[in-house]
Amino acid sequence: MNTKTAFITGASRGIGRACAISLARAGVRVALAARDMAKLEETATEVRALGVEAHVVAIDMASTESIKEAIASTAKDFGRIDILVNNAGITRDGLALRMKPEDWDAVLRTNLTGAFFACQQVLQGMMKERWGRIINVSSVVGESGNPGQANYVASKAGLIGLTKSLAQEIASRNITVNAVTPGFIDTDMTAVLTEEQKANMLAHIPLKRLGKPEDIAAAVRFLASDEAGYITGHVLSVNGGLYM
Ligand code: NAP
Repeated sequence: MNTKTAFITGASRGIGRACAISLARAGVRVALAARDMAKLEETATEVRALGVEAHVVAIDMASTESIKEAIASTAKDFGRIDILVNNAGITRDGLALRMKPEDWDAVLRTNLTGAFFACQQVLQGMMKERWGRIINVSSVVGESGNPGQANYVASKAGLIGLTKSLAQEIASRNITVNAVTPGFIDTDMTAVLTEEQKANMLAHIPLKRLGKPEDIAAAVRFLASDEAGYITGHVLSVNGGLYM
């Protein structure tokens, strides 16, 4: 079988970086996309140490032009993109009553609109190959809601809706679309929380630990595999039991 190629957004750190390494371990060539090129190069070095090809590409998920350019240049270099991992994401937390329109827009544009445009850009190639995997990294709060995160939760719940709709549209082309909903994962995104907030969160996690980026990467790698070919429109919770 031909070597598969994955395009992973937000591969410069955290969950995206772990996804890149996990997919590379499965023999998948990876295109690593984010804004911080130096950090992307660090991920690429780790991937290449596994003997797997890595391509580094600048992308700004808030810009449709940037998404188009990054995916087109990757498809040209690698021939095609078989797997898309929409992982890049940001938070701009605040109570809804006082939330600035720019904070609402930035989060929706990066987390949801950007992911949708990335899907659009890879679909043609996947349809031609009659094989494709799209994995959207949503969040537990996209299922449960969370006070102080109306913008982020709307974007993550939106990703679940996008996943299910797109899955139905393109299933006949042998392209699966699934979402992963991480719980509380130990990355830069959660490093900003106070010890008190972390302790409070831990008290509600039945498995009594924070998740690791690798916990999410394992789910992404499975959904990207041939073995997961009969799973589509699914939302896979990886949250230590935080929300059932
Ligand atoms: P992180 O450590 O903050 O990493 C975020 C990644 O997204 C970085 O690689 C960043 O790269 C990239 N990114 C942000 N804005 C971007 C933009 N405009 N264009 C391109 N790339 C951008 O976060 P993480 O914890 O690994 O989160 C990864 C995903 O999991 C996110 O979608 C997040 O919402 C989701 N998630 C995380 C948790 C958690 O507890 N950590 C829980 C549920 C869901 P650059 O800065 O280099 O651009």
